[in-house]
Amino acid sequence: MSAGAAPILPGATLGVLGGGQLGRMFVHAAQALGYATAVLDADAHSPAGLVSHQYLRAAYDDAQALATLAQTCAAVTTEFENVPAAALQQLAQHLPVAPAAGAVAIAQDRAAEKAHFVRCGVPVAPHALIDSEQSLAAVDALALLPGILKTARLGYDGKGQLRVRTPAELATAWQQLDCVPCVLEKMLPLAQECSVIVARGRDGALVHLPVQRNLHRDGILAVTEVFEGNVPQSLASQALIAAKSIANGLHYVGVLCVEFFVLQDGSLVVNEMAPRPHNSGHWSVNGADVSQFELQVRCMAGLPLTQPRQHSPATMLNLLGDLWFAHGGAAARTPPWAQVLQLPGCHLHLYGKKDAKPGRKMGHLNITGATPEAVRATALQAAALLGIAPF
Ligand code: ATP
Ligand code: MG
Repeated sequence: MSAGAAPILPGATLGVLGGGQLGRMFVHAAQALGYATAVLDADAHSPAGLVSHQYLRAAYDDAQALATLAQTCAAVTTEFENVPAAALQQLAQHLPVAPAAGAVAIAQDRAAEKAHFVRCGVPVAPHALIDSEQSLAAVDALALLPGILKTARLGYDGKGQLRVRTPAELATAWQQLDCVPCVLEKMLPLAQECSVIVARGRDGALVHLPVQRNLHRDGILAVTEVFEGNVPQSLASQALIAAKSIANGLHYVGVLCVEFFVLQDGSLVVNEMAPRPHNSGHWSVNGADVSQFELQVRCMAGLPLTQPRQHSPATMLNLLGDLWFAHGGAAARTPPWAQVLQLPGCHLHLYGKKDAKPGRKMGHLNITGATPEAVRATALQAAALLGIAPF
């Protein structure tokens, strides 16, 4: 679709590849704006499929299902960066697809992604591609160890990552990862982590959400806090400039999340990007006047993008399956939702997943309030009730 093409208006059907929680919240936003939705996911109980007008239960590369999507939808997006880029390419022959296959393909591959960051002049962690015995033997141990070996493709929530201290550990780790192409990254001394969500329209207009401060535990996002002064102003501006140049460099259309490390010396390093809404932007549903999911809808439909305004300090607590087994219990319990909802400004989001498993993202809790102090106090109370360690 060209930059000047007419927007796709409410009433039309918007499609999404992937039926996870991100797709579910996309569906909610699209439906709120008056669109019909179609979800493609092979899982018969996918969180997004269960709330969508149409639910195509098929693999991402199922030709028949892709043809149906192309026929019924006015535009398609993705909620999952590991959909085959070829599927997006195929759909793009028939209807607008945002983000484009080319941008998603770069985000699918850590090595290509890092090369893009370098092209944009944004600092990355020292790293090397490990894709052969030769590249393994050539690793500069002084420069890259201790490090983290990450599969180049298909990693998420810290999966496909192993921490290594010595060349011997590195060799064993690469074998454990089945010798697939990997990126070895130097372990950096982190002071904090943050992320920025930008949305870029097909006319190149860019808007953004405020810089988000993230706390990860065991490689999984645990807490996001968003309020004034949360990340030093100079770092926040640097992160924003970097995220915008990364999006512009891709001629990106859609919502893009860029994750950063703040090092102990105060410098900023880009970690990775997600070509879609991101867990660290979930707070925006309750804390901003335009959420990351509404931005996704507006981008793909070619509607105007207005700069979102954060109206409340916000904290997001991820609700992992572990909470269903709190206090060492073997049998699943229902977390004390009613008690949590007694606290002011708590917004519960559950994804409708049937089975709670440790590490599985089951939902999240957004907490909003008048001041950062009030939000923090409530978030800590909610965490204590739920069995989430204080932060
Ligand atoms: P997700 O897709 O869920 O964001 P992922 O599996 O792609 O996660 P990364 O973002 O690469 O994983 O890493 C997860 C976390 O591990 C980071 O947020 C950070 O806390 C830690 N980590 C990763 N790389 C490094 C590094 N080079 N130095 C220090 N810590 C790191
Ligand atoms: Mg990450």
